[in-house]
Amino acid sequence: VNGPYVSNEGDVWIERGDAPWPRIQRAARMILDEMGYDEPGYPMRYEGIEQGVRVSDNNEADGVHAEETGCDCCRTVVAHHFRAEDPL
Ligand SMILES: [Zn+2]
Repeated sequence: VNGPYVSNEGDVWIERGDAPWPRIQRAARMILDEMGYDEPGYPMRYEGIEQGVRVSDNNEADGVHAEETGCDCCRTVVAHHFRAEDPL
């Protein structure tokens, strides 16, 4: 799968592609666990397909540049958006 791309707030985006749906969900869950959302009470919510997601192949949360910068490290993609649900 392409991605996952993450935010600091528990968001995960995985680029829409050829990967089977269970594999996409597994990849999203795995990266959330790695980010520390593996405690019980952090269920993963699927937010749906999102258009125009700006991502960086550097996979750094703060490594995403605006489209206007015209850099080589970022792209705009269509992606599945997952989110670790805040138990509070
Ligand atoms: Zn960039």
